[in-house]
Amino acid sequence: PRRVYRFGGGHTDGDRSLKALLGGKGANLAEMSRLGLPVPPGFTVTTEACAAFYDAGREWPGGLDEEVEAGVAHLEAATGRRFGDARRPLLVSVRSGAAVSMPGMMDTVLDLGLNDRTVEALARAYGDERSAWDAYRRFLDMFGDVVMGVPHAGFETALQGLKDERGVTDDTDLDVVALRDLVDRYKAVYRRHTGHMPPEDPREQLRFAIDAVFGSWRSDRAITYRRINHIRGLVGTAVNVQAMVFGNHGEGSGTGVLFSRHPSTGAPGLFGEYLANAQGEDVVAGIRTPQPLSALRDAMPEVYVDLEAAVTRLERHYGDMQDIEFTVEEGTLYLLQTRNGKRTGAAAVKIATDLVREGVVTKDRAVRDLVEPGHVDQLLHPRFATDGDHGATPIAKGLPASPGAAVGKAVFSAEAAEAAKAAGDAVILVRVETSPEDVGGMHAAEGILTSRGGMTSHAAVVARGWGKPCVAGCDGIVVNEERRHVTTGTVTVREGDWLSLDGTTGEVLLGRAELVPPGLSDDVTEVLAWADEFRRLGVRANADQPADAEQARAFGAEGIGLCRTEHMFFEDGRIEAVREMILAETEHDRRAALDALLPLQRGDFRALFEAMDGLPVTVRLLDPPLHEFLPHDDAGVEALADRLGVSVGTVRRRVAALREQNPMLGHRGCRLGVTHPEITETQARALFEAAVEAAEAGADVRPEVMVPLVGTVAEFRHQRAVVDEVAAAVFAERGRTVPYLVGTMIEVPRAALLADAIAEEAAFFSFGTNDLTQMTFGYSRDDAGTGFLPQYLDAKILPDDPFQTIDQEGVGLLVRNAAALGRNANPALHLGVCGEHGGDPESVAFFHEAGLDYVSCSPFRVPVARLAAAQAAL
Ligand code: ADP
Ligand code: MG
Ligand code: MG
Repeated sequence: PRRVYRFGGGHTDGDRSLKALLGGKGANLAEMSRLGLPVPPGFTVTTEACAAFYDAGREWPGGLDEEVEAGVAHLEAATGRRFGDARRPLLVSVRSGAAVSMPGMMDTVLDLGLNDRTVEALARAYGDERSAWDAYRRFLDMFGDVVMGVPHAGFETALQGLKDERGVTDDTDLDVVALRDLVDRYKAVYRRHTGHMPPEDPREQLRFAIDAVFGSWRSDRAITYRRINHIRGLVGTAVNVQAMVFGNHGEGSGTGVLFSRHPSTGAPGLFGEYLANAQGEDVVAGIRTPQPLSALRDAMPEVYVDLEAAVTRLERHYGDMQDIEFTVEEGTLYLLQTRNGKRTGAAAVKIATDLVREGVVTKDRAVRDLVEPGHVDQLLHPRFATDGDHGATPIAKGLPASPGAAVGKAVFSAEAAEAAKAAGDAVILVRVETSPEDVGGMHAAEGILTSRGGMTSHAAVVARGWGKPCVAGCDGIVVNEERRHVTTGTVTVREGDWLSLDGTTGEVLLGRAELVPPGLSDDVTEVLAWADEFRRLGVRANADQPADAEQARAFGAEGIGLCRTEHMFFEDGRIEAVREMILAETEHDRRAALDALLPLQRGDFRALFEAMDGLPVTVRLLDPPLHEFLPHDDAGVEALADRLGVSVGTVRRRVAALREQNPMLGHRGCRLGVTHPEITETQARALFEAAVEAAEAGADVRPEVMVPLVGTVAEFRHQRAVVDEVAAAVFAERGRTVPYLVGTMIEVPRAALLADAIAEEAAFFSFGTNDLTQMTFGYSRDDAGTGFLPQYLDAKILPDDPFQTIDQEGVGLLVRNAAALGRNANPALHLGVCGEHGGDPESVAFFHEAGLDYVSCSPFRVPVARLAAAQAAL
C-alpha cells in the first residue's frame, strides 16, 4: 500500500475522506489544497506506516525510505528548493496528526533542514543574519527536545547563561555574534546529552524526526489522553512534512490562530489571536502576548479580507465551525491547518441552530454532527446562584476560558488532584500553567485555574474540550506550586482551602459557592426538538418523587421507566411502620403494619400519576433485602424495641435472622413478594387505588407494574396473580377500571436465557442492566469501583467500566437474545432498559441497535439520552 500522500504543488493525492489514513491534519491539508486554498506543499506519511513501524519492532517498514524520498522530491519540485542547498535550501516542518485531534500530544518541529550551511542562505533570504541564526538556535532546541529527548531546560540554562554574560534581559537583545555563540552552546548541550553532534544532513534530520513522531504515539501522555477521552481503534499517527512559510519576515508577516465562531458562546464572527513578525508556536507558547485578530485587520486589511473569505469557505465546505491556523509571509496568506473546532456546550447548540438557520447544514446533520451528548450534559450542570448571594468571596479575576461553575478544594499538582479525586474529594487544580503531562489531574479536577496563558492556552483548550470550567491567565494571583499555595497579595489560599471558579466570567472566589441547577436554553430546546424528530428509541426517566417526575418531564421524558418504591419507605415517619412490618411475627401483625403504610404510598403514587398525566409510570415492587430497613447499632435496636414494646433480645434475634452473607444474592426482589405476598398486595392496592383516584380526578393514568429479580417463570406467574387479583378487587370496589400492564425486569441471567417463557406471561421487559451486569460478570457492583476494576481498566482487560458503558459482547448478548426470544414469543412485548446505562450515549446507541423500545435514565440524563438516541438513528 502507498504510505506517502502528497499535497499542494499541483499534486494532491488525498482528501478529507482519508482521515483514518492521513490523520485529521493531513486529510484537511489535502482537502484545502484541493479547494485551491493557499497551503504550503508537503506530504503525509500514513497512520498505517506508523502501525507498520510498531509491527516491525520500531523499524521503518520496507519501502518507506523510498516513498519519503519521493515525497521530498515532490517538495523540491513544488518549491524550487532543495534540501541542504546552500542557495535555495528547502526547510520543512514535521508535524504529527492522528485521526482524532489530540492537542499538544506531539510537538511540531519547525525549520528542519537548517544546518551550518543553510543558515547562511536563510540569512540572505531574510536579508537579516540575526533572524536566521535565531531560527537556527530555535531549531536546535526544538529538534533536540522534541526529537532526541534532550531536556529543554538544558537549552534554557545555556540561553540564560549567555544573557547573563552579555548583561541583557530579553532574547531579542542578543545580537548575531551572540546568537552564533548560542548555536555552539546549544550543540554542546545536545552532544552532552546524546553523545553526538546534531545531524547536519537534512535527510537524516527528517528521518529522526519522523521516527520521533511515530515514537510519540506510544508516549505516556498520548496513552493517558486516549484513555481519558475513550479514543480507541486508531492505528497510529500520521506525519506531515510541509514546506516552511515564514511569519517572521518583518512586520508584513505574522502568524495566528482563529475560530470561525466564538468557541465559548458560539457568537458568529472570527475569534482569534495574531502575532506580527512571529513564527509557529510563538502564539500558543505564550512567549509574546498575542493580539486580537483585529490587529491583523488594522495592519493588513486585504490579507484580512482574504482570510475571512477562506474561513467562510471552509466553514461552508465542512459544515461546521472551524479552528484554523494561518501564517502571513510578506503579505501573503497561508493556511496551515483547519479542523472542526472544540467548543463549549452553549456554543455547540448556538452554532448548530445558527448553521441550520443560515442554510449551511440540515437539521439531521446538525443533530448528528454538531452537538455531542457531552455538550448537552454540560448545559445541565449547575451554575452559581445568580443574586451574588452564594456564599463565596471574589478574590481575583482571570480569563473566562471555559464556562461553568466549579467548587472544590485547592490542589497544586496533577498528582494531588488525582489522589484527591480517588479519595472522593472535589478539587480545583491551581497551576501557573498546564502542560500535557497534567491531563490526568485536569480531568480529575472540577475546575482549573492558571495564572498564565491565554484563551488558547493548553488549559483553556483542554478544559473547553471537556466542558470543564477553567479560569486562565489570572495574573492577579501568584501560584507557588512548590509550597502549595496561591496568593493575591492580600489573601492566601492553601492546599485544601475551598475555592470556587466561574469559568463564564473568569471570577475566582474564596469559599464554597452555592450552586443552582440549570435550565434548558432556547437553543438546546430547539436542538433536542430536532433530535426527537429523528430518534426511534423512547426516553423515560427513573424517578420516585413527584418533583423528580416533573423535572424529568420538563427535560422531555416520555414517562417513568423506573419508580423505586423503597424510597417511599424511608421517608420521615414511615420507617417505623416499615420496621414494624418487618419484625411482625404473624401475618396478622404484618398486615396491620402494612395497612398503616398503605395510605401513605397511595398518596405518593397519586402524585406521581398526576405529574405524569398521559404518560406511562412503571412502578417496581419492593426490591431490597429487608434488613436494609432495620437498625444495626445498639442504640437503634433499643429504640426500636422500646417503641414496639418488645424486648431488645427479640429485635436482635429478628435482625440476626434477616442477616445474609450475600444480601445482593439473597432474599430480595420478587423473592420477598413470593414469601410475603401481603407486601405485594399492599403495594398493588396502594397503586391501583391511586390510579383510580387520579383517573377519577381526570388524569390519564397508565400504570405498569414491574416485578423485580425474576429468574423463573413461576416467580413471575405468582406475582402477577397477586397483582391481577388486587387490581380486579380495587376496580370492582371503585366501579372504575384503568388500563395497566404487568411486566418484569430482566436482570437475572436465567431470566434472559428463558425470556421466551417469561414473555408469554409478561406485557413488558425492562432490562435492569446494573444487576444484569453484576450477575453476568459476577462482579459486585458495590465494590468493583474500588477493588480490581481500576487495574482491569488500566491493563485493558476490560475496555470500559461495564457498570458505566454496557458490555456489548457479553451482557449485550444476553439483552439481544432475550429481546429476540421475548418478541418471538409475544410480538406485543414492550422492551426497555432502566439501568444506569440508559443515560450513557454509547450504551444508548447499542440499545437502539438492539431494537429496544425505550431507555430510562435519571432525569438529568434525559436530554442527553434524547440526543444520543437521535444520533444512533441517523
Ligand atoms: P499542533 O498540532 O500542536 O497544533 P502543528 O503541527 O499544527 O501542531 O504546528 C504548530 C504550529 O507550527 C502551527 O500552528 C504553525 O504556526 C507552525 N507551523 C507548522 N508547520 C508550519 C509551516 N510549514 N510553516 C510555518 N509554520 C508552521
Ligand atoms: Mg503542539
Ligand atoms: Mg496545529
